[in-house]
Formats: sequence, C-alpha cells, structure tokens
Amino acid sequence: PAGPSARCGRMAGMAGRAVLVTGASRGIGRAVARAFAAGGDRVAIHHRDSAELAEALRVELPGDGHVVVRADLADPDAVRVMVDEAARLLGGLDVLVNNAGVFGPADPPHPVFGSSYEQWRARWREVLDTNLVGAANAAWCAAQHMRERGGRIVNVSSRGAFRGEPANPAYGASKAGMNAMAQSLAVALAPYGIGVACVAPGFVETDMTNEHLKSERGDAVRAQSPFHRVARPEEIAAAVHWLASPEAEWAAGTIIDLNGASYLRT
Ligand code: NAD
Repeated sequence: PAGPSARCGRMAGMAGRAVLVTGASRGIGRAVARAFAAGGDRVAIHHRDSAELAEALRVELPGDGHVVVRADLADPDAVRVMVDEAARLLGGLDVLVNNAGVFGPADPPHPVFGSSYEQWRARWREVLDTNLVGAANAAWCAAQHMRERGGRIVNVSSRGAFRGEPANPAYGASKAGMNAMAQSLAVALAPYGIGVACVAPGFVETDMTNEHLKSERGDAVRAQSPFHRVARPEEIAAAVHWLASPEAEWAAGTIIDLNGASYLRT
C-alpha cells in the first residue's frame, strides 16, 4: 500500500483541491476561504445562520465550483450530514479547516464567582460542544473521505490554549483540547497521508473581538505586540493555507503560536 508520502503526492497532483472551511461566512474563516480559492481550490463555505453572507462570499470567490453548506456544529448529526454534503458537492474532500468557534457566551463572562452554577454549566457545555466536540466530529467525518486519498485537517485554536482565559475558562480549555486533538490525530492519521495541525492565533481583528478592541481595553491588547496592533484575518489564513498544503507533510502535529511577538515583553 502507498505510504503517507505517496498519498500526499497524489494530493499534490490534483488540480483544485476540495476544501471545507467551517465558520467561513466572516472573520478568519472568510479569509481562509479566500486564500484557498485564490490558490485554485474549490471551497465549501460552512455557516450556521449566515446564508446571505455565505452566498455573497461564494459568488465573490475567484474560480468555480464553490458551494455553501450549513450546520450547527454543536449538533453531531448535523455535522455528519454537512461534511458528507460538502464531499458530495465537491467530489471528495482533501482539506478540512476547523475554524468555527464561539468565545462565549462571554457577555457576561463566566467567572467562578459571578455566575450561577446553571450559567457555569451551560457555558462549559456550549463552548466545548461547539469548539472542541464539533471540531472532533467534523474531523472524524472528514477523515472517512480522506482515508484513501490523503488530506489535511487544520484546527484554529487560540492563545487561550496556552495562556488561559480567566473570564472564559471554557474557551481556553476548548482551545487547549483542539491543540491536543491535532497532535493525537497527527500521529493516528499520518499512515493514511492525512496531516493534522493547528494555528493558535493571538488577538485578531474580527467580529468576535470588535467590541473588546474598540473599548478602553483595546489599547492594552494592541500594546502587547511591538507592532502595536492585532492580527489581520489574512495573516492567520496564510498560516492555515500553508499547513494544509501538500508541501507541509512535515508540519503534522505542529501548533503555530501566531501572535506578532506579543507576550514576550513584560
Ligand atoms: P467570528 O465570530 O467572526 O467567526 C466565528 C464563526 O463561527 C462565525 O461565523 C459563527 O457563526 C461560527 N460558529 C460559532 N458557533 C457555531 C456553531 N455552533 N455552529 C456553526 N458555526 C458556528 O470569529 P473569528 O475571530 O473569525 O474566529 C474564528 C476562529 O478563530 C474561532 O474558532 C475563534 O475561537 C478563533 N480565534 C479568534 C481569535 C480572535 O482574536 N478573533 C483569536 C484566536 C482564535
């Protein structure tokens, strides 16, 4: 049987790979979808409740063959239907980008003291079900389609995986879980030519962080980097795109801590 490298070679030989990006209607996911489409790939744009934005992106993307798929990632059955639909519409699946995620419900956040036990439990459930379990379920479903042809799975985790999220501990835990999942699956799936890796961004300018960055706390966030700004979605997308490339076989199990030299100064 073909070893991992041979399978990746087959992947490299394909004109226009089939790529599923979750949470692709806006923010980092949209930039990721654009990066793949610009590289000649066909993209399944996943969304939950943003059909208009997703369709607008589909029309705007360069190249042909892009499609829109829908699912609540916290619903395991919907995830399976969505991944299979993406593979059916694209004629297979070469790349899954687990980008979709929730930070909250973070407003109000859920500190130990300041939230009821019911709020605490509900928030852990929602955040883990979406960010971690949803991504794991999508990975399982995608891997079924990649078993014979090889592929790539890239998780978008967060700096919160390494540095904690005091006001939103479930988020930090979910992202640390995504890192660990990528490492585990990288080993388990390498024999099938399926590379699994992770990008862990610091602050990125998107709808998720918009309010925070506009508030008086925004200056402190920007001051964490010597560039005095936060990341642009395109800068995260470039790393995702590379990790998913056929050339990145050796990046399997890698977690890119992408943060513009933030957190290095006192
Ligand atoms: P965003 O809020 O603009 O995008 C997140 C997307 O995920 C949205 O389109 C949303 O609809 C989708 N989503 C959320 N819950 C879902 C569910 N249950 N089912 C289906 N879709 C769901 O935020 P973003 O900044 O573009 O974030 C993208 C990813 O990057 C997230 O996983 C986020 O945790 C991560 N991240 C963001 C930052 C940042 O500073 N913006 C930093 C580190 C990591």
